[in-house]
Amino acid sequence: MPLHIETPFVRSQFHSRRLQKNVWLKMEAMQPTGSFKLRGVGAVCESQLASGAQRLVSSSGGNAGIAVAYCGRELGVPVVVVVPESTSQRARDLIRLEGAEMIVHGATWAEANDMAQSLNGPQCAFVHPFDDPVLWRGHATMVDEIAVTGPKPDAVILAVGGGGLLCGVVEGLWRNDWSDVPIIAVETEGADCYARSVAQGRPVELSAISSIATSLGAKRPCDKALEWTAKHVIRNVVVPDALAVAAALQFLDEHRVVVEPACGAALAALHLDHPTIASASDIAVIVCGGVTASVDQLRALATSIG
Ligand SMILES: *Cc1c(COP(=O)(O)O)cnc(C)c1O
Repeated sequence: MPLHIETPFVRSQFHSRRLQKNVWLKMEAMQPTGSFKLRGVGAVCESQLASGAQRLVSSSGGNAGIAVAYCGRELGVPVVVVVPESTSQRARDLIRLEGAEMIVHGATWAEANDMAQSLNGPQCAFVHPFDDPVLWRGHATMVDEIAVTGPKPDAVILAVGGGGLLCGVVEGLWRNDWSDVPIIAVETEGADCYARSVAQGRPVELSAISSIATSLGAKRPCDKALEWTAKHVIRNVVVPDALAVAAALQFLDEHRVVVEPACGAALAALHLDHPTIASASDIAVIVCGGVTASVDQLRALATSIG
């Protein structure tokens, strides 16, 4: 039994009516940890335990850290999550509620990550949030599920942080003989390391993350995400934070589910006049979810950046 669940693939009445096409939502927000991360992280944790690990380590103060904590508890192994001081109280609470040990270290994620790496002994497995082939294989299961029920989408819209979700979805498309399905890879302004890297044809490292979509806040994408651009049709889209927040609030109104601005970014692309969207008749949106946002916070963000 995998640690993740099969999620609904539902037709959005709201977006389908609005766009006069079929818009399908892959509801990863329904995973027990509230985001798709559980698929890949679950696969990594199981594989690490099978090869002898006795402790799991994460340096993510977001959905990846929460997923590692969840998997450790389910699998009965201790988890250490090292997070920087900037990590929100809500994220800290969610990690602790899963029973993980939490170490708060450093002002930035880089410092927390260095510390997490130093804990990484022989029986201690570090779980990377986006750059690991086993993780991608786990994320790819969401496409396996879509392939069972159908319909085959003409385009897939997803959010990109470090590119783990993208690598997983592309792998899933290929292993289901859907390698012709284009991807719309959405980032927010100020967290757009992937779009910049693709434009430059080499990995670009952002000096800082200025977007409020913290789950998209990788400074550079994984190499595999860049490699895929040579083999798979991937269109980069960058949206302002305000549109991502507005799309998350609209999703709450129309679909009654709270998601982070990171997920709102993917939903916001449905409002753009993009040729890949215009020519598609069935569009799949990966509703990647995220639990670090609350309704109050989304409303406050909408007011402050609106
Ligand atoms: C991690 C995450 C992303 C970005 O995924 P990557 O694999 O880093 O590209 C997007 N949305 C949510 C909610 C996330 O937790």
